[in-house]
Amino acid sequence: PTEDYENLRRRIYSNTKELWYYVHHELTKVIQEDNKAEKIQTILDQIGERKRSLLSDQQSLPELDGYNEWRQAEAANVSDLVQRRLHYLQNPPDCKDARKLICNLNKGCGFGCQLHHIVYCLIFAYATERTLILNSKGWRYNNKGWEYVFMPISDTCTSAYDDKVVMWPEMDKKYSGEVTYDAKVLALTFIDSISQKPKFLPLAIPKDLAHRITRFNGDPSSWWIGQMLKYILKPRQAMQKAINDTIAKMNFKKPIVGVHIRRTDKVGTEAAFHHIHEYMVHVKDYYDQLELTRPVDVRRVYLATDDANVLEDARSKYPSYEFLGDASIAKTAATHRRYTPLSLTGLLVDLHLLALCDYLVCTFSSQVGRVAYEMMQTNRVDASDSFFSLDDIYYFGGQNAHDRVAVMPNDGAYQDISFQVGDLIGIAGNHWNGYGRGTNKRTNMNGLIPWYKTADHLVLYPFPEYKQVPL
Ligand code: GDP
Repeated sequence: PTEDYENLRRRIYSNTKELWYYVHHELTKVIQEDNKAEKIQTILDQIGERKRSLLSDQQSLPELDGYNEWRQAEAANVSDLVQRRLHYLQNPPDCKDARKLICNLNKGCGFGCQLHHIVYCLIFAYATERTLILNSKGWRYNNKGWEYVFMPISDTCTSAYDDKVVMWPEMDKKYSGEVTYDAKVLALTFIDSISQKPKFLPLAIPKDLAHRITRFNGDPSSWWIGQMLKYILKPRQAMQKAINDTIAKMNFKKPIVGVHIRRTDKVGTEAAFHHIHEYMVHVKDYYDQLELTRPVDVRRVYLATDDANVLEDARSKYPSYEFLGDASIAKTAATHRRYTPLSLTGLLVDLHLLALCDYLVCTFSSQVGRVAYEMMQTNRVDASDSFFSLDDIYYFGGQNAHDRVAVMPNDGAYQDISFQVGDLIGIAGNHWNGYGRGTNKRTNMNGLIPWYKTADHLVLYPFPEYKQVPL
């Protein structure tokens, strides 16, 4: 390691102690004092400044550790390998003979939800070595079908011919009493309606690639899902031109923070209303931290939303920020105009640009927010520390259990639950206050857990290794 790296590492250690000295001293003092509210606010501001400094230093670590080029190259190589494997799977030498999986794009939901439906089908196809056939006639965003907007997901094999189609899992169950994968052509039900979920579904990742992905990316599950999106989402020329034209009209420049505000039909049904202020707190924090290491001329925000009023509201409330975004896109994204080709173009612009931002503030309860993050994961080596979700932690709709593993013991002396090192804890969510909620799978105790004493438990599944595709 370089001298700079070692010095920075020591600085982080020392400044973490400094943070504690400060907090301990100030809070001990404030106990005795009047006018507490004002003083506590000053202390909070100071802690925020010190936290940003620590995080900023830690972000510099990988730039100085000497492995940055290696990580870049490795991320590109593993991505390329996955893409070539998918290409191999999707273009069998003899299409008529190939085992297939049919995915119907008739899921009555938004585009993000539909994309995740295809991702689920493609992972299923990859796990069972079947070529995926996408049926999209009468698709709600474009009647003529997916292939009218995007490149087909196979160059050579797009039909199951007249082979018998077996619904998975229902029909197999009916005939054989158990779920099998034998039929030549399977058609998939929606992920939400499978009772016994295969273990290869998210958030599982391929065992043969896991040790490579974890060395450059902090959230391999979303990286893996992002790779599926990368394979699927290839706009045709006309669509790409429409996207490029819209983007050319915008002053999209770095640094820039992406904000996704999901309103209309989502609010009050699947998610809570969040005021613009709640998003901007995190935008401000991002720029305050960035300014510790470099000057920022303009605090730019790319704002994507389905609520036509948000952009104007943001501009009037935050005049010192520059908001990029297209009010007409937001207008067509609103519920009553949503399922049209025009709205799809707008959404692709929004997704593309959100995924190019340096940082993303959103609500992961929205599939649009999650797709933007997954795409971000394919645009850079590691985007796992470049977002803030106001509500949910990252998930894939219909996923298998998401656990965290205890890396330190907890005695549950406060309002939290107890656990031992190695216990698996099924996660319900993070409260973003230092605690999350979960169930200790060994003791069945449910309650609060100090998040820092746990780590994400990555599920590795022995997917086929596609030895025919060179490494
Ligand atoms: P979810 O309902 O937010 O989980 O995501 P879905 O993708 O399933 O459905 C929401 C739909 O609303 C999207 O597919 C879009 O049609 C529209 N929409 C939501 N947010 C945005 C946005 O920021 N920009 C645009 N252009 N459309 C959006």
